[in-house]
Amino acid sequence: MPTVSTVRGPVDVEELGQTLMHEHVFVVSTEHLDNYGKGGWWDEEFRVEDAVRKLGALAAKGVRTIVDPTVWGLGRYIPRIQRIAAALPELNIIAATGIYSYHELPHQYEHRGPGLVLDMPDPMIDDFVRDLTVGISDTGVKAAFLKCVVEQDGLTPGVERICRAVARAHTRTGAPITVHTNSFTQSGPVALDMFAKEGVDLTKVVVGHAGDTNDLDYLMRLADTGATLGMDRFGLELYNPTAQRVATIATLCERGYSDRMVLSHDAACFMDYFGGMWDEALATAAPKWRYDHIHDDVLPALRASGVTDEQIEQMLVLNPRRHFS
Ligand SMILES: [Zn+2]
Repeated sequence: MPTVSTVRGPVDVEELGQTLMHEHVFVVSTEHLDNYGKGGWWDEEFRVEDAVRKLGALAAKGVRTIVDPTVWGLGRYIPRIQRIAAALPELNIIAATGIYSYHELPHQYEHRGPGLVLDMPDPMIDDFVRDLTVGISDTGVKAAFLKCVVEQDGLTPGVERICRAVARAHTRTGAPITVHTNSFTQSGPVALDMFAKEGVDLTKVVVGHAGDTNDLDYLMRLADTGATLGMDRFGLELYNPTAQRVATIATLCERGYSDRMVLSHDAACFMDYFGGMWDEALATAAPKWRYDHIHDDVLPALRASGVTDEQIEQMLVLNPRRHFS
């Protein structure tokens, strides 16, 4: 039976169980934290305990695995995630590699690569492959998938180099990909066309944030490539209200697409985008953006819209298992 790398080590894919395919534990820039958080808005012990409590409550709903696409650019810091994973043996956390950038390449890769000051094979690809096959830094934790972004400005030179490096790390290792897309500007096909030209197996790609739109033609066009739709921002009502997200999924299930969708919130225990005022920002702007929204509100609404238990099992268990097999 195939296994998948998790923060605690390899797990049989049959044991992943109910899986939320896009949840962050922390989105905290290490530079922001080291320079402004310590002694200020960041309390390490409080935040770790808070995360264990929030994710423990999610596990109590029946979720066995979360897939965490926090990479460089979002503040990936695996030792803290290892503490959470050690405290929650009932929950698997799957880590990612890649780079989260809407425009620029990190300067650390600007001068190394084909045709650059240091003319050499792209070191980004080797770094991603190392995370997937050897481990992230000195943690011993292997990433199990790749993450990149194609936002409204499309394939800027920086984004294109990152996405092509992700594609090549995929073709070298077979690791699946989650690409953050902008459904309002419909950047999904830009990402998939580029991946296809790079030889990526599109059945191993999740088009992240596809669920922000209710444009069925757009969603079916993406799904018909073999890619999986990330219906993954439940609770972010600002982008698309829950009732609309549910109606779109129900219609796609009716049309036979339940094998091409996964569910999630894109939530986090703490994000530093609001300085230390995460809990206040959440309560004001997005009170439903919590890890338990899907189990408390969305699944009953899907059932009431005619989605069957088999289709829910497909989206929560079978599609994630296939993605990591
Ligand atoms: Zn995210």
